[in-house]
Amino acid sequence: MRPVTVSVPAKVNLQLSVGPVRDDGFHDLATVFHAVDLLDTVTAREASELRVTVEGEDASAVPTDATNLVWRAAQAMADATGADPAVHLHIMKAIPVAGGMAGGSADAAAALLACDALWGTRVAPEELHDLAAELGSDVPFALMGGTAIGRGRGDSLTPVLTRGALHWAFAIFEGGLSTPVVYERCDDMRSSDVPQPQISDPLLSALATGDAPAVGRALRNDLQPAAISLRPELADVLEVGEDYGALGQIVSGSGPTCAFLARDEEHALDIAVALTGTGLCRTVKRARGPVPGARVVR
Ligand code: ATP
Repeated sequence: MRPVTVSVPAKVNLQLSVGPVRDDGFHDLATVFHAVDLLDTVTAREASELRVTVEGEDASAVPTDATNLVWRAAQAMADATGADPAVHLHIMKAIPVAGGMAGGSADAAAALLACDALWGTRVAPEELHDLAAELGSDVPFALMGGTAIGRGRGDSLTPVLTRGALHWAFAIFEGGLSTPVVYERCDDMRSSDVPQPQISDPLLSALATGDAPAVGRALRNDLQPAAISLRPELADVLEVGEDYGALGQIVSGSGPTCAFLARDEEHALDIAVALTGTGLCRTVKRARGPVPGARVVR
């Protein structure tokens, strides 16, 4: 069996509206996912037993045991198809770890596709989606990519019509934020009568017409106050976007990564240079979206 490599994008939520806590402890979401070309790759090759290795940025922060989402993905794929899960999965990380860009979920989606291709199991797209949703709310979007509305826990997806490309700068920090801790803080900071979340019509129209300034004005993240209360310096970093004319700036998902929407590639570079100058971020990256979801590259 020839090794299979799958590349998979990070996501930023253009809108993340969080409803009240449900009885099962999760929140109903109304979100707009957007895939950007910050890519991890997962390579699957035949091995004597299931094994995970990680290389690249933040590799030391990523577990290589059965708690890694790619391990769970391979096991789930083997259980569903009857294949032997003896596979070596090698992750090359570029997506920040625990950064609010769904890197672990992206790797899980990539591992599902890579194992399916390596084992020749040809799992149907609907079954792939179901396996992905069982692994985590953000995993189905990593398979799909592009720009999509997510409802329920975020795993019920509808593609969104978009025109043109969006150019981004991302401020990436030392150390991540735990998603459950950010949700908990969000609940603590809000009153008890939280409305059901709704998708923003102005955002959808801006995306459909390719009106980047209007996209910038419509960026919204209900988790942002909670992320800032846990990491107050994020507020200073977001201000850099205002100072340098970003079309909009937002904490990505549960943070701490901050996303800045630029007018074009050159403007994204200006913002990136300004962010680097603050000395507050570990690194700064630029990316473009939307891009396709997990894809076999070789
Ligand atoms: P989300 O945006 O979906 O909340 P995130 O981007 O904030 O996720 P991840 O990078 O997915 O966070 O990592 C969250 C935790 O999951 C990490 O601290 C790490 O211990 C664990 N983890 C398990 N598998 C992976 C993986 N393949 N890559 C990164 N982290 C992983």
